[in-house]
Amino acid sequence: MTVHSILPASQAEYEAQMRRLEEEAESARQAFIQAKGNYDRLCGEMRNLRIAWRDQQETTTQQPQPANNAGLVTKNSAYPDRIKPHRGRHTHAATYAPGLLMHTACNKKFEEDNVDHLEESDPITCPACQRAVKNNA
Ligand SMILES: [Zn+2]
Repeated sequence: MTVHSILPASQAEYEAQMRRLEEEAESARQAFIQAKGNYDRLCGEMRNLRIAWRDQQETTTQQPQPANNAGLVTKNSAYPDRIKPHRGRHTHAATYAPGLLMHTACNKKFEEDNVDHLEESDPITCPACQRAVKNNA
């Protein structure tokens, strides 16, 4: 079948053929708009997923340690608490011992009332405690 064989033979045939093409074009246009909307929605979902995933990766890989803690051990399961005796200048790694005592990694005991309790992310500044938790981390 050649192009010439479908050429309209009259004005009426021409108009009928044109109407049919216009209807097909319109339904193709509608399908295109719907597909485009679908495509945009999927792109948006992929984008949101990427952002959510990246945020999650950042929060799980970030360590909540201030920069000035570099080189100092800050976590130890045996001595999870950080205490500073009221009369001392060092921060010790400590844990609770019976009788409301704090037992430090450097093997000192303090009454709980005589120490300040610090954040567990605070650096241990007592050299003996540092050694003890490093060997025992
Ligand atoms: Zn200590």
